[in-house]
Amino acid sequence: MKQVLVLGAGGFIGSHLVKRLKAEGCRVRGVDLKHPRYCESAADEFLVADLRDPANVRSAMDLPFDEVYQLAADMGGAGFVFTGGHDADIMHNSAMINLNVAECAAKNGIRRIFYSSSACIYPQQNQADPDNPNCREDSAYPADPDSEYGWEKLFSERMFMAFARNYGLECRIARFHNVFGPEGSWNDGREKAPAAICRKVAEAPDGGEIEIWGDGAQTRSFLYIDECLDGVLRLTRSDFAGPVNIGSDRMVSINALVDLVCGIAGKRLSRKYVDGPTGVRGRNSDNDLILRELNWAPKEVLEDGLRKTYEWVAGQIEAGENDAG
Ligand code: NAD
Repeated sequence: MKQVLVLGAGGFIGSHLVKRLKAEGCRVRGVDLKHPRYCESAADEFLVADLRDPANVRSAMDLPFDEVYQLAADMGGAGFVFTGGHDADIMHNSAMINLNVAECAAKNGIRRIFYSSSACIYPQQNQADPDNPNCREDSAYPADPDSEYGWEKLFSERMFMAFARNYGLECRIARFHNVFGPEGSWNDGREKAPAAICRKVAEAPDGGEIEIWGDGAQTRSFLYIDECLDGVLRLTRSDFAGPVNIGSDRMVSINALVDLVCGIAGKRLSRKYVDGPTGVRGRNSDNDLILRELNWAPKEVLEDGLRKTYEWVAGQIEAGENDAG
């Protein structure tokens, strides 16, 4: 039986990944500061531990795991990452986790480690045109991410690659582009655009108004969680190290995303455009490399993933789960 360790197993992607690995028959240890908020963890063993502490990382990695997935990070959507108010914590906490994990993985003979980087590493000047952003993997340098979150991810990518070079640690690195789905942050200040829009639309009465940060013309692409996991597992078990984008290449504006969610909800809503942290003007996953190296491309249509997410968020609101925090 494959022994797998998931770091960040209490988070959105981590908790879904644990379910997938269990369904495959793996034995899974999950580690996080907290249990998953919206489901019981499917892990065989769940350690509540702070991975900024090297002693906790050593105990978490005390078995010769076949695969380690490093998803733990101090992370959130635009309202958390782009305001500047959490920059020191984001850089310090995530770098501490990654420093500990890389060193311990190399010392403890971990066979293979997956590291979740982000599209936020790409230079801001390549993402100024909402219709034509460049997020090819080889455009990352000269580096100029627009957030400290992106700079930390770039540093940690490089550190994992250095451990691969000098200590033979088998690393696989993906740059995620906006992953969404049920059972993720939707009202705690760390939510990302799809969940936030689902919440705003679900809470508004038909004919009412919702607030949109910026002018809504900024573009992004959105990848449904199940598809993200397909890409992660395929990359981790391949001979290709990355870094490689894992995302959707269907770029939509935030206004178009709102149209889709309103359509799903069957509501007509007007929009009030307000100042808010919006990040770069345009971003899209460039999937040429992953298609070439791993023969992987997302298949699910955005509308289907949005419907599942909307129904889940609306269910949370109906159940009175709208206590932020
Ligand atoms: P998430 O915030 O839901 O999960 C991250 C988890 O890390 C949280 O449960 C958190 O408690 C845990 N964590 C933070 N600090 C910790 C610590 N000191 N010790 C132990 N655990 C700690 O985020 P997610 O959306 O599941 O993202 C997972 C990974 O993918 C992160 O590294 C994130 O940066 C990356 N990523 C996600 C997206 C996305 O769209 N969701 C996009 C790009 C990159």
